[in-house]
Amino acid sequence: MQQSDTSKKILLVGNPNVGKSTIFNILCNRRQKTGNYAGVTVASLDGEYIYKNEKVEVTDLPGAYSIYPDSEDEAISAKFLLDDAKNYSGIVYILEALNIKRGLLLLQQIQDLNIPVTVVLNQIDQAEKRGITINVQKLAELTGTEIICTNAKKNIGVEDIREKVYQSAFTTEKENTFKIPIEQKNLTGKVMQHHHIQNPFRAWATIASGNSLDFLEPMDEQLDENDRKNLIPKRLQTQETIRRYQEIDKILSQVITKKAQFRELLTEKMDKILVHPFWGYVIFGLVLLFIFQMVFFLASYPMDWIDTGFNYLSAAASQHLPAGPVNSLISNGIIPGIGGIVIFAPQIGILLYFLYLLEDSGYMARVVFLMDRFLRPFGLNGKSIVPLVSGTACAIPAIMSTRNIENVKERLITIMVTPFMTCSARLPVYSIIIALVIPNHFAGGIISYRALALMAMYILGFSTALIASLILKNIIQSKEKSFLIMDLPSYKKPLFGYDFKMMLRKVWDFITGAGRIIFVVSIIIWVLSYFGPSINGSSKVSSDVKLEHSYLARMGKAIEPAIAPLGYDWKMGVGILTSFAAREVFVGTMSTLYSLEDDAPETKVIDRMRNDVKPNGEKVFNLATGISILIFYAFAMQCISTVALVYRETKSVRLTFFQIVAMSGLAYIASLIVYQILK
Ligand code: GDP
Repeated sequence: MQQSDTSKKILLVGNPNVGKSTIFNILCNRRQKTGNYAGVTVASLDGEYIYKNEKVEVTDLPGAYSIYPDSEDEAISAKFLLDDAKNYSGIVYILEALNIKRGLLLLQQIQDLNIPVTVVLNQIDQAEKRGITINVQKLAELTGTEIICTNAKKNIGVEDIREKVYQSAFTTEKENTFKIPIEQKNLTGKVMQHHHIQNPFRAWATIASGNSLDFLEPMDEQLDENDRKNLIPKRLQTQETIRRYQEIDKILSQVITKKAQFRELLTEKMDKILVHPFWGYVIFGLVLLFIFQMVFFLASYPMDWIDTGFNYLSAAASQHLPAGPVNSLISNGIIPGIGGIVIFAPQIGILLYFLYLLEDSGYMARVVFLMDRFLRPFGLNGKSIVPLVSGTACAIPAIMSTRNIENVKERLITIMVTPFMTCSARLPVYSIIIALVIPNHFAGGIISYRALALMAMYILGFSTALIASLILKNIIQSKEKSFLIMDLPSYKKPLFGYDFKMMLRKVWDFITGAGRIIFVVSIIIWVLSYFGPSINGSSKVSSDVKLEHSYLARMGKAIEPAIAPLGYDWKMGVGILTSFAAREVFVGTMSTLYSLEDDAPETKVIDRMRNDVKPNGEKVFNLATGISILIFYAFAMQCISTVALVYRETKSVRLTFFQIVAMSGLAYIASLIVYQILK
């Protein structure tokens, strides 16, 4: 080894992961693996180097955040720092450019202990990368230390550390940055005197560190009631930390400037348009229109496959099972009933997928913000848009999500009106009726009339929800004031794969949930349609009757006088009755009913519906009846699960009952008016 004339001792100190080991290895020319793993206690490491004929012994202390240890690693460092018997020339304190705030806490404590220190600002490359500018000169001035900037990973600037150590460029802060709180002044004074401690902070820190009791024992008779009362180490440590951070924040505000990042800049630019008081709404409208177009077009292919698949299954069952009631039950009841629901999985999936993507990209938060301005006059608030928009998937999770609306009145109104939103259970009904009565034409060759009609249904649901809110706002009394506080996150690329999985899960829940009901309902419908009262007037039951003579037809016909003014025949009556279990059952019921008429078994259900005529030769599904049904389903409260949930959330039989009657009454009256005008 080279001979040296003089020698020095230095300590390397800093928070964990600041790059201490990396610097230690470069300084001492070692190839130690860097990285101390959390939970593994590392003792201090010793090394040495020779620079300009001076030998320097280096001790690398385990990373620590404060002189009050929380872990064994920190305890090693704390003990070293509080023990004034150790003799070393100074500390090389390593700060990480991205975490200066955290690092300054221990630095200040070290300075208050009057230990000579010089500072290394490491990982400056990381700060640059993130658009963070650090005014190093100002930092040096405010901390009263020399500062060396390094990028230890690339061995940039480490040589300067050697030079500064050679120059003994360590500074000792003369004045304490931490003022001993008045309550502990007395106690601190006594400790300094008894233990011959010069530095008030060293006395205070010893009191505040957990071992203070041993330390204070020999001076027991000197302590009075007041001293003992103020001796709760954890509280003292917290007090100190809070005061220091207040100081540190002041320092940082003068030292660090953060350039807005590309993403933030982009977000700012995009928000100029996306939350614009006019264009914001226009764009939201276009986004919705685009989604509805997709709901129809993308979905049409898988829907065809599903339809063909179930027809094939049904035909196969009918062919291979022995003829009789079981054959009929399976091929005409259960398979078409379930197929009638599964076929809508693609549309529901596409709608949900787009909603998830919007949420994930950060756009939905803008919609909440935009809508707050818009919804407030209606007695709702921006947060109501989350239940309202989720209501387009299903009222159940939507009503549950009203729980984060703090204002009781606004929450209640949101619960009451959310079922007006077009939920995915209505989508199958709308979809089949729109396909039946709206021609497959395009406005200007691009925008489908069917997509427009679907969008109109969504708008109808939404506007009804708003009008209902306005009415409720004036009925429900409340003095509570409300306001919206929210953070608009930066836009980001959505997690396409994850959202896709979420969507698949929701669609599967829909199929299995609805499937279970439809399984039961399709059996009941099949039973009611397969059997009927004996034709010759006896009380005997006949089986395999013509549909028109079945019990089902009887029930439908029994309510026909009530629904005829709305333009419905007995089959739709049956559909509406079964829909009170869940709306989508309408479609399953229709498929079952129309499959039961076995005049032309290969014809698709939708074509049978299209061709069905009333006794007077008029089409059963014409524009007037179609729109009347759409309106009925838009307004009627036809979902037992929602009713149960509304009761659970409001705990009010009156409100729940009011909601059912008001919604269904509105449905009846509105459909009646529409049909009478259009027919
Ligand atoms: P210690 O826990 O303080 O000993 O930190 P290490 O020396 O183990 O370093 C922690 C991590 O930061 C390691 O992955 C180093 O490679 C990395 N690192 C150290 N210095 C720098 C630097 O100046 N720039 C960058 N980008 N990374 C660094």
